[in-house]
Amino acid sequence: MSDSLEKTTDEPEVPETIASPQQGADTHASSSDYAALYAVSLSDPDGFWSRQAERLDWTQVPGTIANWSYDPVAIKWFEDGVLNICHNAVDRHVAAGRGDVTALIFEPDDPGAAGRTLTYGELQAEVIRMAGALKKLGAGKGDRVTIYMPMIVEGAVAMLACARIGAIHSVVFGGFSPEALAGRIEDCESKFVVCADGGLRGGKGVPLKANVDAALAKDGADVDAVLVVNHTDSDIAMTEGRDHWYHEVAADVPSDCPCEPMGAEDPLFILYTSGSTGKPKGVLHTTGGYAVWVATTFHYVFDYKPGEVFWCSADIGWVTGHSYIVYGPLINGATEVMFEGVPNYPDHGRFWQVVAKHKVNIFYTAPTAIRALMREGDEPVKAHDRSSLRLLGTVGEPINPEAWRWYYDVVGDAQSPIIDTWWQTETGGIMITTLPGAHGMKPGSAGKPFFGIQPQLVDNDGAVLDGATDGNLCITASWPGQARSVYGDHERFIQTYFSTYKGKYFTGDGCRRDSDGYYWITGRVDDVINVSGHRMGTAEVESALVSHPKVAEAAVVGYPHDIKGQGIYCYVTLNAGEEADDAFTAELKNHVRTEIGPIATPDHLHFTPALPKTRSGKIMRRILRKIAENDFATLGDTSTLADPNVVDTLVQGRMNR
Ligand code: ATP
Ligand code: MG
Repeated sequence: MSDSLEKTTDEPEVPETIASPQQGADTHASSSDYAALYAVSLSDPDGFWSRQAERLDWTQVPGTIANWSYDPVAIKWFEDGVLNICHNAVDRHVAAGRGDVTALIFEPDDPGAAGRTLTYGELQAEVIRMAGALKKLGAGKGDRVTIYMPMIVEGAVAMLACARIGAIHSVVFGGFSPEALAGRIEDCESKFVVCADGGLRGGKGVPLKANVDAALAKDGADVDAVLVVNHTDSDIAMTEGRDHWYHEVAADVPSDCPCEPMGAEDPLFILYTSGSTGKPKGVLHTTGGYAVWVATTFHYVFDYKPGEVFWCSADIGWVTGHSYIVYGPLINGATEVMFEGVPNYPDHGRFWQVVAKHKVNIFYTAPTAIRALMREGDEPVKAHDRSSLRLLGTVGEPINPEAWRWYYDVVGDAQSPIIDTWWQTETGGIMITTLPGAHGMKPGSAGKPFFGIQPQLVDNDGAVLDGATDGNLCITASWPGQARSVYGDHERFIQTYFSTYKGKYFTGDGCRRDSDGYYWITGRVDDVINVSGHRMGTAEVESALVSHPKVAEAAVVGYPHDIKGQGIYCYVTLNAGEEADDAFTAELKNHVRTEIGPIATPDHLHFTPALPKTRSGKIMRRILRKIAENDFATLGDTSTLADPNVVDTLVQGRMNR
């Protein structure tokens, strides 16, 4: 199969590099710093990571730094160290006299409703209350606590409270159904749930407590206690003996709750992956390595300076929220916005209105949000003052160069570097990115490896590919933030990540490295299309489609084709108000042909008002592949779909063809 990895005859040009607007500024790493630090991180990982570990307070400083093997699989970092991550994110700032610094700025869903600001001192008091309440209900070290919350302060507080008492949190995104919630409660045998009565998103209520009730009514999901935060004054049912109002329990808890000393390898959290490629995996992260990893990546990648305002628009239900709303920024003592709402409510300018209101300096969001807003034009952006912005980040999917350009030119007025960050739930934090002061940027490329990260591209037989090439993305050496297991199923951990290419961590992503050493994620390896022996990433064809001015979004999959082996099947969503006819179909096919080359000419265009996405906004190509293959019977796990109706519409569209 390795011949399928041969490059196309037209060698892609090395794309232009755009100078970062922060290069030459006083950033945490210049380009020479990057080169030097990266070199040391590979030549002396123990020295490098023991210095990074000094970012944290340890009750016992680790003597052993790295101790890992990928064959057999056993990963440990800082194993004899003892610390508490909640202490590091909260208490130590207060102890150091920074208790009056603002930690969280809560921006509610309704722009007219009252927000809330908490200093580190106030956050500490809240966390102690929540930790006391959890303890009172019987939760302790090693217990799993499921957190099913809206994007409110208490969501972050619940996570920190678990960490404080040594309980393992499993945050389930508040948009998930009772079925999905029940499955996750059952999978990790969680005996405690923290939820709110209800949430608010885009002006609509989310019945969180009712969903918990429905989940717990199912066989298997069986808990001792549910702690309910009153957020929306909803009328909810409380089950006697099981359900407790947080404000009632917390009214009578001790005024202190010491941080539990945790071994570096004690579990910190379980988080289920988004399910883009199959049944979600309960990824397990431990304490010390994760803390060092998010502290270090946040520092360098977002280049945070005291006094700045950081805003990550993710939800705490995703790893992005864990690492860059809760732990990374707070360990660094940052001030940050926590946003309950959505980008398009009450209008498409909401993000930029929040940026203006809170004078956000560093903003981190996902391509799905950027594409959705781009579709609505520049006016909603230009209506708000964005002069505070200094850095713009993106994560979650490859960003099409078209969307990158819009983010850079329109949102950032070409003043802020775009920090495209490639990473995964399993990696704990950012792995490949440009650093604002160190690297030039290439629209659509994630950039360069972070300190300690050794990416490697291999062909389907595992042969290492050097230089500018396409391949399957592996990482050859462990890093502190790496997941340690799949909860309760270590065999699945080994099978999924370490068995395809022995001795390497396999990411599941396809990737191209250009001759400048920049990495370009081309999509999931499972999604790679092989047209007449030419390997093609879905991202490339999608970017070509989206670069047509009438196209809002596209998803590309392969389907069986008599002559070519695989044909190119494209699902296309047009901009508001546009219609597709035969002439346009021909025009769009031609557009892709000129953008990439004849080999990439779409075989079929399927116009659709919407694409199936995970709750985190990622396109679920595995379902699209099945539909393109006319295989409607086995669509696989669809529990993490944001809107299952989209699938029915697509199936109808396919059958009517
Ligand atoms: P599952 O593992 O259940 O299929 P998932 O992979 O979508 O779900 P996450 O861990 O949230 O769950 O997503 C990680 C994946 O997202 C990466 O493997 C990659 O495919 C994609 N990704 C994340 N950031 C980027 C980025 N900056 N550029 C390109 N792809 C990205
Ligand atoms: Mg994944």
